[in-house]
Amino acid sequence: MAEPIGAQRGTRDILPPEIQAWQLMEAIARDAFSRYDFAEIRIPAFEATELFARGIGGETDIVGKEMYTFTDRGGRQISLRPEGTAGVVRAYLEHKLYAGPLPLKVWYQGPMFRYERPQKGRQRQFHQIGVEVFGSAEPTADAEAIALARDFYQGLFEEISRRRPGADLPELVVQINTLGDDRCRPAYRVSLQEYFRSHASGYCEDCQRRMETNPLRVLDCKVPSCEMLNGAAPTLEPCPDCQVHFDAVRELLSAAEVPFEWNARLVRGLDYYTRTVFEIVPRGASKFGQSTVCAGGRYDRLVSDLGGPPTPAFGWALGQERVADLVLAALDDTSATEAGLPLAVGPLAPEATVQAFQLALQLRRRGLAVALLPQASKPDKHLKAAVRLGAHYLALLGADELARGEVTLRDLHARQQQSVAASAAALSAAMAGPQPAPAAP
Ligand code: ATP
Ligand code: MG
Repeated sequence: MAEPIGAQRGTRDILPPEIQAWQLMEAIARDAFSRYDFAEIRIPAFEATELFARGIGGETDIVGKEMYTFTDRGGRQISLRPEGTAGVVRAYLEHKLYAGPLPLKVWYQGPMFRYERPQKGRQRQFHQIGVEVFGSAEPTADAEAIALARDFYQGLFEEISRRRPGADLPELVVQINTLGDDRCRPAYRVSLQEYFRSHASGYCEDCQRRMETNPLRVLDCKVPSCEMLNGAAPTLEPCPDCQVHFDAVRELLSAAEVPFEWNARLVRGLDYYTRTVFEIVPRGASKFGQSTVCAGGRYDRLVSDLGGPPTPAFGWALGQERVADLVLAALDDTSATEAGLPLAVGPLAPEATVQAFQLALQLRRRGLAVALLPQASKPDKHLKAAVRLGAHYLALLGADELARGEVTLRDLHARQQQSVAASAAALSAAMAGPQPAPAAP
């Protein structure tokens, strides 16, 4: 046999027992998006490298060392998207969406690609759900988007608790901060740089470089010794306008009953943020770890940096793998087999195969989920298969039944059976109708 080819490092197959967590999360996200009046947008998985270099910032880890970049057969410099915002902004400009009604509120979902060291909750191909709001500088836009993220998790946790009463769910905390704007950030950069330089020897090599090129990023370093020094780093003195904005966002979040904490040293790994930034993290050292499950903020300069009209904007993204891990842990794996099926149909003899096939299809076309047990076999064998599939009913078609134009319908929950006319309508009615009479002993 030929040597099988494995999946690439940092990629993962999502198999059927796991997919329910993804579908649940996506259904709850869709529901939240429609209530908050966000429309879906779908954008390509690759773009010109230049878009990400200009949008995300050349000094970031993402652009500097994590992008999947290649020259295509036509000589173009292409990158697989490492995040969604730059592409959504490109689409916003390309289709002149700024000429339509603002604010424009969109959401997206899909795979992102970063050449990172794979570990739990960190892959090279991962998936994000994200939102972007264009054209509102108001603090309500910030608070609304953060409340939406929070409502998504609230809705997800409620659904998990409904399915698994007492499920172990982490407490999620919204951490927020302001990064200021062109008026107050330059002075902050300077004071940060002074602090970092005076402690330079305690910082990792990356940070020693970052403190010269992009000092705010030092605050985002996850190396423990850097984290410790960062704990005493100066915090931003917001200018009056940024202060007013930040106060308003916090007041709105309180009004929306979204619990939050101000983390004065919270920054983001992307360069384009201004004013509000936030993350949602599980509290404490729970089994869910410390990993951020949603992150974003305001980016008032990105649209104009990418050649568009000045357009204030706000966005966030959540990592679907991290949410799926959390959902699966809370539901625990027994729920995978719980879904079940209403009906399985099986032929008892080869001459009944076509009719069993036909009946299964007719029932599916009537809207019923049906498993077809394809091979003619004994009732016991079909029974076992139906139980394994979690079927409620089993319809059996043999030569005798065919001659009478009937099928035997067994209720596997009530352990009863009856004869029913061999038509989709009669079977549907029998499954919906009163309980069949007890089977003869
Ligand atoms: P981190 O600090 O964990 O590297 P980040 O700051 O790079 O995250 P963002 O670019 O803001 O993350 O992306 C938003 C969310 O996407 C993160 O909070 C996380 O849940 C998820 N995410 C980011 N990178 C990965 C990855 N390599 N694998 C899985 N999920 C990821
Ligand atoms: Mg990262």
